[in-house]
Amino acid sequence: MTPTPLRSILIVGGGTAGWMAAAALSTVLRGTVRIDLVESEAIGTVGVGEATIPPIQLFNQLLGIDEDTFLAATQGTYKLGIRFIDWHRQGTDYFHPFGQYGTRIDAAAFHQYWLRLQAHGLGGRLDDYSVTTIAAEAGRFARPERDPRSIRSQMTHAFHFDAGLYARFLRARAEGQGVVRHEGRIADVRLGPPDDRVASVVLDDGRELAADFFIDCSGFRGLLIEGALKTGYEDWSHWLPANRAVAMPCARVEAPTPYTRAQALEAGWRWRIPLQHRTGNGYVYCSEYISDDAAEARLRGLLDGAPGADPNFLRFTTGRRRKAWNRNVLALGLAAGFLEPLESTSIHLIQTGISRLLLNFPDTAFAQADIDTYNRLVQLEFERVRDFIVLHYHATERDDQPLWRHVRSMTIPETLQQKIDQFRSRGRIFRFEDELFQEASWIAVLLGQGVQPERHDPLADVIPLDQLQLRLDRLRAAIREGVAAMPTHEQALSGPARARPAA
Ligand code: FAD
Repeated sequence: MTPTPLRSILIVGGGTAGWMAAAALSTVLRGTVRIDLVESEAIGTVGVGEATIPPIQLFNQLLGIDEDTFLAATQGTYKLGIRFIDWHRQGTDYFHPFGQYGTRIDAAAFHQYWLRLQAHGLGGRLDDYSVTTIAAEAGRFARPERDPRSIRSQMTHAFHFDAGLYARFLRARAEGQGVVRHEGRIADVRLGPPDDRVASVVLDDGRELAADFFIDCSGFRGLLIEGALKTGYEDWSHWLPANRAVAMPCARVEAPTPYTRAQALEAGWRWRIPLQHRTGNGYVYCSEYISDDAAEARLRGLLDGAPGADPNFLRFTTGRRRKAWNRNVLALGLAAGFLEPLESTSIHLIQTGISRLLLNFPDTAFAQADIDTYNRLVQLEFERVRDFIVLHYHATERDDQPLWRHVRSMTIPETLQQKIDQFRSRGRIFRFEDELFQEASWIAVLLGQGVQPERHDPLADVIPLDQLQLRLDRLRAAIREGVAAMPTHEQALSGPARARPAA
């Protein structure tokens, strides 16, 4: 077969993954490739997924989406990081902020100077050098400014939003750019030459949809990648044993916090995500340690407003598809794998899946070298995110429940053990191969979970102690002052970002 450019793409599934793919591909391909999407209202979507990380701004920019319009359309709020409660020990909490700690001082990383001061009982909290942490604590927000002399240049943000509304918003754009949507339930998948690749899907009313390339966004089912192509799944439950979640929104009772809350509980953890019109809540748990009924009751007891819907129970197996791209099928979203939403990474993994597809965009030959490159990149990214999530569980001093006793004593991935060992010895973090989480993220979680470096970097000793103290005192004061002048989060959401009241 002589390779030809792709003529048609069929996206299977209309959840967040399906409509993100449809909106991005129709923007980039500009009508040169026919794009269809099939989804089933009867099957529906997972209907959760409300917190994100900063790179989502790049995705919205690629699509030319204005931030205020997006916030208003999705009941969105700003997110500056995650507050982790009861993870290190019960009664403790720490903040994982977006952005960096401090500024450039000299040859060593900023936190090394802070570690040095700390050894002398000076320097305050590391949190005091993070603009986003101080803004989050104060309930304030301002968009970043370009001027590097301004404290606001260090503001880094993501969003909380209603994922269902986001999918609807992207659908309108995608359809406006020529994507054709088909409503119906896929009953059969047909394979064909040259290599038993997917040729078409057949709906239960007999309609058949053929394409050159298929993007499987069918959710946990993995209808094409697993159901038809039997690609295989790598199970990571031995490191991340949570396998269920119950989600239940509640009425909003206070001004939305500009951060997510993640509280460790007996058999997992609970999320709290503030939107403009409601608060999202859920309990991610391991069924070995708690029943569904008990998990629901526990979550209900923690709601700070009246429940807004019936509980939505979800089941999952943490891990990844062995090949996210197999023959002419590329899996995105839940069809590609699942990592619990502790660091709000799933929507991001959809986004990077799309950008890596664009970097390895196929023709009908489906060059194996491109497919292998894509799969390798996806594997590395999933593994690094996995390590970061495992860190939260493993580096705990909790021993009050069987789950916590299990995770603190389990053997962890070698790649994570190396990071912990290196940080413990001299507070250093090395990131490999374009890792998603920045140095500051690792520092926040390692310190927050009680992993304390034994010594600081000797390069931090070059500056005289009194000079260092003065500089850091000034920086702390400037951050406090800069944050005090920011609008409150509520004020930042008034004006064009304000959503219409929910129906
Ligand atoms: P789905 O939403 O399941 O969509 C699947 C689509 O396939 C649907 O349209 C369905 O109709 C269609 N389909 C399936 N079978 C058929 C068929 N036979 N015929 C036709 N159509 C079919 N991510 C984050 O980034 N942040 C978070 O805070 C977050 N929280 C989460 C909390 C929980 C408890 C869970 C489980 C996930 C969370 N996620 C989060 C992940 C996020 O929800 C998903 O990554 C995202 O919604 C993408 O889902 P999806 O589109 O892959 O699948």
